[in-house]
Amino acid sequence: MITVKKPRITQENGISTVTTEVWFDQEKKELAFWFDSTYEPYLTVDRGDGFLVELFYFAMRYHHDMTFECPISERLLFQIETCIFDANHEADADFYVPKIICQTVDEPYTPQGGAVATGCSCGVDALSSLYSMNEKNDLAGHKVNLLTYFHVGDAMYDNGKEVMDASDRPVNLVQYDNAKRFAQAAELPLLFVDTNFAYEIVMPQGKVHTYRHCGIVLFFQKLFRTYYYASSFNLDGFKVVPSVDCSFADLFTVPNFSTDNVTFYSSDATYSRVRKTQQIADYPLAQQFLNVCWTSGKNCGVCPKCARTQMTLDAFGKLEQFGAVFDLEQHRKKKAMQVGYAVYAHKKDYYYKEIYPLLKKAHKISMASRLWAVCFWLAGPVERWMRKQPPEKRKKFVDFAKKVNLRVPY
Ligand SMILES: [Zn+2]
Repeated sequence: MITVKKPRITQENGISTVTTEVWFDQEKKELAFWFDSTYEPYLTVDRGDGFLVELFYFAMRYHHDMTFECPISERLLFQIETCIFDANHEADADFYVPKIICQTVDEPYTPQGGAVATGCSCGVDALSSLYSMNEKNDLAGHKVNLLTYFHVGDAMYDNGKEVMDASDRPVNLVQYDNAKRFAQAAELPLLFVDTNFAYEIVMPQGKVHTYRHCGIVLFFQKLFRTYYYASSFNLDGFKVVPSVDCSFADLFTVPNFSTDNVTFYSSDATYSRVRKTQQIADYPLAQQFLNVCWTSGKNCGVCPKCARTQMTLDAFGKLEQFGAVFDLEQHRKKKAMQVGYAVYAHKKDYYYKEIYPLLKKAHKISMASRLWAVCFWLAGPVERWMRKQPPEKRKKFVDFAKKVNLRVPY
């Protein structure tokens, strides 16, 4: 049984803290989150909505029922019990359907908030989402007027430890600095919410990031009217695979977190990653702030995410415009190898499957790349073995690969 107690709110030096005792059977944990006190009037932790979204995956995965001391919005409870529990359980019978013990409320908060928001990680998905809503969309009521940065487990290892950059600073904080500069340039306010959730409840972020981000939004239902959660995959990629990656099901899951106050959208769900990259290629804010890398805080240029983004921009003839965020000289030197990996992996990897035809069409596949593809094929067993290693060991492989100028495998 997971028991969520009533939260306590304290304030010190302009920072508000919400602390909540959560019992996992006999084990007590204190979940806390912090934010600028100017946002405290918008707080809605008198309901258990945010905690339900933060914790239901853990309950399903480890077979817990859930008790909440605070009531839960009836619409949210209905959607989670009827749609989300059932979808995950049908997809994988190891996922238990929890019993939820709580009171319900069906009144919206008043006055309702006016914030139309999206996350500001400055990755391709986030920037494309902002571009779609603020540059392409003409409906004023649906334009983003607030950016968010939630510290809920991104740029962290599956074991709950922070990824550190070369100067031993958490990559998360480096990315938050980038988000602050971005918000200033975009002339939009930025809400930062720090949490200890990913330290206290250790789960692979790929399986829960959607829930961790959307749960935070539900702590501030007097603030948000609309929240765009940037999609990772397009309609073709839709599937419900709770033991693999929650993003594949965002199109179904995200709208089901809506309440009578907040409407959630899985934004750019009709866009492939290549199309999103093409969309932001001429976006001045992207050229200045694009940050796709979670291995080092700034774009390292050689990890798979950096390599794929550079290759895609190059195929569109737009890479030169991104000299402020990528080391173009480094990419030129490693391009044949990176394209070689795309040739090798395009039949089994979701992203390379999409990039490969683009590279072919743009005549970016040289003889050297084909030779690299053969080398990667020969080294396949080593890569497969490496992927099974614990995160710290994998990091050592990454560092070694960078040192000897090989493609970073992870
Ligand atoms: Zn990188």
